Amino acid sequence: MRLGVLTLFPEMFGSLTEWGVTGRAKAQGLYSLDLFNPRDHATDKHGTVDDRPYGGGPGMVMQAPIMADCLNQAKDAIGQDAVVIAMSPQGEVFDDAIARELAKLPALIFVAGRYEGIDERFLTRYVDREISLGDYVVSGGELPAMMVMDAVIRHLPGALGHSASAEEDSFAEGVLDCPHYTRPEEFEGEPVPPVLLSGNHAAIARWRAAMGLQRTIDRRSDLLADKTLTKEQAALLKEWGLPGWGDC
Ligand code: SAM
Repeated sequence: MRLGVLTLFPEMFGSLTEWGVTGRAKAQGLYSLDLFNPRDHATDKHGTVDDRPYGGGPGMVMQAPIMADCLNQAKDAIGQDAVVIAMSPQGEVFDDAIARELAKLPALIFVAGRYEGIDERFLTRYVDREISLGDYVVSGGELPAMMVMDAVIRHLPGALGHSASAEEDSFAEGVLDCPHYTRPEEFEGEPVPPVLLSGNHAAIARWRAAMGLQRTIDRRSDLLADKTLTKEQAALLKEWGLPGWGDC
């Protein structure tokens, strides 16, 4: 997959490309990442990319012609087929379904805003999609873009290797992941659930499925809003004596 980002702070992206799962995926060649700085397209000697908002008010706005020039450079490098995504608190709220959808595309270019944001005419004319990380405002689009790219990269075949799978993560089946335990067997008087020590793989799989369902009911019942539990799922919760299954 080919990735590009328009950003005033390209140095920030080392935290995506140099560490952990996303660092290994880059080293394996599962994706490329190219960074494009709007400042390189400024027309004055100060490298100005922003200006005061028409109509007055606080803050500065990133200028449309500079962003357009920078995007054209990115498209020449990454490909004209790239889908352009602006990070914005006003966009559609990101989730696993969007991550899976984006992971199937050959090329993505992210636009990271700063200041009060980007001139609306650039957004309407050049951007295919606006994505938000949630109902709060952060200072720039770099961290949101990295969050989206990380979630997308996890869905690229081979990124997680054999030992872990995105299919076992939360949201894969529309439910949350089960709780996880490792040594020691007892921590501050609390033992590991006995089924996990039983060696009975079928029972362990059923327990994990039941616990994932139960946590979804307890913590994120909104995820089940347009679903009804199958007979098997309801039976699993009953088998493990977990309350709440009757509510769904
Ligand atoms: N004035 C804008 C508003 O209220 O909608 C917020 C601008 S914010 C300070 C600067 C940049 O940070 C935005 O252009 C966007 O790229 C990024 N940003 C801030 N919050 C975000 C969020 N929740 N999701 C995605 N990007 C966000």
